[in-house]
Amino acid sequence: MTDRQHRLIALNRRNLLRSFGAAAITALALPVGAPVLATPAFRNYPFQLGVASGDPAPDGFVIWTRLAPDPLELDYRMPAAAVELGWEVAADDRFRDVVQAGTAVARPELGHSVHVEVAGLQPGRPYWYRFTAGRERSLWGCAKTLPAAGQPIARLRFGIAGCQHYEQGYYTAHRHLAAEEPDFVFCYGDYIYEGRSSKVWNGGETGPLENVRQYVGDELYTLSDYRRRYAQTKMDTDLQAAHAAAPWFVTWDDHEIDNNWVGDIDQDGTPEAIFALRKQAAMQAYYENMPLRASSMPRGPQMQLYRQARYGDLLDLNLLDTRQYRSDQPCEDRWGVACEAIDRSDAAVLGGAQEEWLLGRMRASDARWQALAQQIMMMDLDRTPGEVRTENLDSWAGYREPRRRVLEAVREQGRGNTVVLTGDEHQNYAGELHIDGNAPGARSIATEFVSTSITSGGNGVDQRLDTLLIQQENSQLKWHNAQRGYVMCDVTRDLWTTEFKTLDNVRERGAQIRTRHRMTVEHGRPESLADA
Ligand code: FE
Ligand code: CA
Repeated sequence: MTDRQHRLIALNRRNLLRSFGAAAITALALPVGAPVLATPAFRNYPFQLGVASGDPAPDGFVIWTRLAPDPLELDYRMPAAAVELGWEVAADDRFRDVVQAGTAVARPELGHSVHVEVAGLQPGRPYWYRFTAGRERSLWGCAKTLPAAGQPIARLRFGIAGCQHYEQGYYTAHRHLAAEEPDFVFCYGDYIYEGRSSKVWNGGETGPLENVRQYVGDELYTLSDYRRRYAQTKMDTDLQAAHAAAPWFVTWDDHEIDNNWVGDIDQDGTPEAIFALRKQAAMQAYYENMPLRASSMPRGPQMQLYRQARYGDLLDLNLLDTRQYRSDQPCEDRWGVACEAIDRSDAAVLGGAQEEWLLGRMRASDARWQALAQQIMMMDLDRTPGEVRTENLDSWAGYREPRRRVLEAVREQGRGNTVVLTGDEHQNYAGELHIDGNAPGARSIATEFVSTSITSGGNGVDQRLDTLLIQQENSQLKWHNAQRGYVMCDVTRDLWTTEFKTLDNVRERGAQIRTRHRMTVEHGRPESLADA
């Protein structure tokens, strides 16, 4: 639909509104083919949650928005009716050359979100998109299609972000990530945190801290609760900038639902059938607020989130879900001394179907590089300096058999081209992967880069003293830092370069970003991981 057609429709609706006498929010049934749609006049700007694009393919991507004139109200002040939106995709940022346009329906069942799967575009180039609703127009975003699968590609540059506790800092890092103009962003999860609003928190080494801003509401249980938390998070314009700059591949970690949940189990001993109801609400809100394809729409308390994207012949990006199919954390889910259960042969991280899918995809891959884009640390670090050995049992370290199976499969391929991308830890780490980190093999099997948080954990420190000691006991760990920020991966045919971007301060707005550290690994030689 052209701009002019939109204006004409808007004009007709205005006339209708005038003749019926518009209330502050008015929903009128207006036949636009079938089904019958409503066309509201908005008291406030309805696009306050911004726009986003995601899951790019060679011929298109998802474009997303959600109408919310009063985002922090539980009904976000939208009528209980479906609303028609217009959308445009242009070849230029002035929208002079609109290459596709259409309409979509924002339905109350989906929190008045739309997920338009745009197809039929050219591979490997940027496009600009925006929405209209009634007389209102959204800001615009930029999305890039992937290069054609298998096409020779010389270079790719993408960002990694996640763990963005709203109360513990400002999203300055997202503003800087946007300025990088990455080809895409991988979000490893903890997009929201489900806890109740709090004025203070125990900010680690420095003692109690006042939060720089506060969540609205109590701990999240209902669909309305989760919706409102996403709305509050998405009102942040630094975050909106990062979404508007590039398409995102999103996955979740635990806090989109509940701290350290796995499978059907939360941490509080809630009956599984009851926790399933909370999961269902959280998954629906996640889908509503993320630029995901319809193939990820939740069905009951289940959601298909693992998937693969191929960036020409340069990279196969395997996006994993390490929460939904995982067996319970061993040894009572403590961060501490491991018990025998970490060696259980029936333990699962990916679950049977996802693991079979991943290993099959990796075997079939002829891409130059393979990435496992996921959540929890795969390095099995000894986390305590000195005699005592402790593990993070919510990471792959608590699941030795599934970990061994994946690493054996990578080793058997003999390509030395696998990079594991991780979040969750709220710190930066880079290191080698071995079957047993305590007794590393002669040759590293793959490389792991762990991205720090956008804000979670507050300012942090450049180097933690305990981690320097831990590094001495873990020869596979090559670098560490505990500040906030994001990671950029610059991938060429022969060299993978990871840049750790950090900020000194997330408790004040406008902090500068710097490339704190750069590491490289050569194609085919995971043992070559080194500072650059
Ligand atoms: Fe987190
Ligand atoms: Ca845990």
